[in-house]
Amino acid sequence: MEKLCPFCGDQAAESSFALEGGILAIYNISPLLPGHSLIVPEHHAGSLFDLSEDEISRFFAFARKVTHFLMQVYNAEAFDWSLQEGEIAGQSVEHLHLHIIPRTSGDLPDGVEWYSLLYGQQSQGLDNPERVRLNTWEHAGATLQLRQKWEEYNKVIPG
Ligand SMILES: [Zn+2]
Repeated sequence: MEKLCPFCGDQAAESSFALEGGILAIYNISPLLPGHSLIVPEHHAGSLFDLSEDEISRFFAFARKVTHFLMQVYNAEAFDWSLQEGEIAGQSVEHLHLHIIPRTSGDLPDGVEWYSLLYGQQSQGLDNPERVRLNTWEHAGATLQLRQKWEEYNKVIPG
């Protein structure tokens, strides 16, 4: 099972733009909006309930920091977080991951939330592999840029 997990192993680490305390930040291969990224524990955890108290605090502290970073990079004014746990909730990859979606004014039509847009009209869940994907080069390019910016960001805001 874990061998097939896309968020386990070297490939996940290589495709990440940031790593702190055993938690990775990965640019979504299929971004819903610019900046859409994932926070993923480096070691396999299927559920939020598999994390210790310490891991939980590191997970969310890192997620908050990455969110602040992404909002700067993408000039976002707001953000969405989404964590789906269990198949009936829309989880398709059985490795805990939090979606961070930076939001800007006018990024979606008035009164449309991404959640209803995706689930209602297009039947394309956040984890749906059918959604338009970046190719390998596009994803690698976005990751490289974010890595450099993350380095600069940490010079300004240490820790
Ligand atoms: Zn995994």
